[in-house]
Amino acid sequence: MMENKLDGNAAAGNLEEIFPFEMTLAQATCAGCGAHDVIGAAGAYMHGMGTIIRCNRCDAALIRVAHIRGHYLLDMRGVSVLQMKEG
Ligand SMILES: [Zn+2]
Repeated sequence: MMENKLDGNAAAGNLEEIFPFEMTLAQATCAGCGAHDVIGAAGAYMHGMGTIIRCNRCDAALIRVAHIRGHYLLDMRGVSVLQMKEG
């Protein structure tokens, strides 16, 4: 299947249904290479089954979101630290 690379902001609608804060502004540290950047700047690949947000430096999957039968499945093993501002 062809994947279209977008930036993480494209996944904002998906993420805001799950997280009670602005996820695109959260800083994620990649568990693979240690790079850290805001989710909005990471690569996002969106297709029928869901969304994969990938590290810009090493291309590892940071966050996978699947939406199946009324449930969100979230795989965040690619993120070692997720940092967001309070408020
Ligand atoms: Zn990485």
